[in-house]
Amino acid sequence: MVDLAIRGGTIVVPSGAVRADIGIAGDKIVAIGTEIRGSREIDASGMVVLPGAIDAHVHMELPVRGDRSSDDFRTGTIAAAHGGVTTIVDFSVGSPDTHLPDEIEARWKTAAKAVIDYTLHGEVVGWQPGNNADFAHAAELGVRTFKFYTTYSRSGRMTDDGAMYTAFAAIARIGGRAMVHSENDAIINALTALLEKKGELGMTALPHSRPAICEEEAIARVGLIARRTGVTLRIAHISSAPGLEAARAARRAGTRLIAETCPHYLLLDEGVYAREDAHLYAAMPPLRTTADNAALWNGIADGTINIIVTDHCPFTRAQKHWTGSFLDLPYGLPGVETLLPLMYSNGVAPGRITIERLAELLSSGPARALGIYPRKGAIAIGSDADLVVLDPHKELTITAESLHMNCDFNPYTGRRVTGWPVVTISRGAVIVENGTFRGEPGRGKFIPQD
Ligand SMILES: [Zn+2]
Repeated sequence: MVDLAIRGGTIVVPSGAVRADIGIAGDKIVAIGTEIRGSREIDASGMVVLPGAIDAHVHMELPVRGDRSSDDFRTGTIAAAHGGVTTIVDFSVGSPDTHLPDEIEARWKTAAKAVIDYTLHGEVVGWQPGNNADFAHAAELGVRTFKFYTTYSRSGRMTDDGAMYTAFAAIARIGGRAMVHSENDAIINALTALLEKKGELGMTALPHSRPAICEEEAIARVGLIARRTGVTLRIAHISSAPGLEAARAARRAGTRLIAETCPHYLLLDEGVYAREDAHLYAAMPPLRTTADNAALWNGIADGTINIIVTDHCPFTRAQKHWTGSFLDLPYGLPGVETLLPLMYSNGVAPGRITIERLAELLSSGPARALGIYPRKGAIAIGSDADLVVLDPHKELTITAESLHMNCDFNPYTGRRVTGWPVVTISRGAVIVENGTFRGEPGRGKFIPQD
């Protein structure tokens, strides 16, 4: 007799989808088999039971120009739980004036109200060559993935190639990983200056200010630096066919490369920038063409893409107030709650990917990339009991109002989705059941990375 038994579902274990029961005692999975009885039982017949999704790239209450992204760690993780996400990965807030370990400890305090587990990437801003101890101390705190920007020189977040080269070498020595927002800064600045001079700063110009070559060049460059320094490289949010091809080429040449993309680069395109509310769709990299969408789906099918994340970074309509220039906007889209349903509905339901592949992209892939597998990301004995029961037939039309993210618009408004999470279990606790949240702020734990 276990504490909680999930009975009769199709469960996705590492070896594939099988019909079985799952037994949970305390916060762990303790049994997988048949006729498992529990003091509490959930009937999952007709349902799909997946390892809880890991959204491995989100930004809750991110400080941006004196403002903050509109979800905090409480609202954002409640929304995540409703969408079947049981772990998020946010970022420490980098600054040239503070050190990574202090930034990580500060972010723990901000994240203390999380309702699901979380871990952090260390954001690297203003790092100076020689400060290798920053990475070693961060690793001791359980943070082993470090985020760099090859762009945003205007706001001071860019790391130049020299600092990146020395940092990658230091991170390689401690067995860590480098994660890079890869876009060529100089090309973006030159094209933006030209658009500024012509007074063409409307939303249709946004993709022209940072075309795909920016991503392609930067991925090729950081791919080479990673290869020569021996660091594992994670490319954040690949948005374009040329960027994807650069990632493939780097991997063929020997770079240990992990590739991310996001639902908005698979399901939305630059056509939205002609709309009246185009500014709400401001994201970086920008949305691309339908040909790029198709190339990224191919990248998922052929294994180039390892992870799907949302880059959840919501701002409300008021925060995204349109002034006539895309340079004045805060950038980012809401996504954490719709990650699993959108990928199930657009990936598994039409037969583009299997349910097993979905579990790799959303759970085991990110968990491995973070060094938290198999504690997270697997339905296996001994793993944390982070599970989502998905009703493959439940249909829903997306609106901002029907979701729980603290954002008054949604980029997928009006889309019909087939397949929706109905029960979310976090470390053995049922925290969402049929649309009702039953968790409490502060129950989420920081998960250290290997
Ligand atoms: Zn991001």
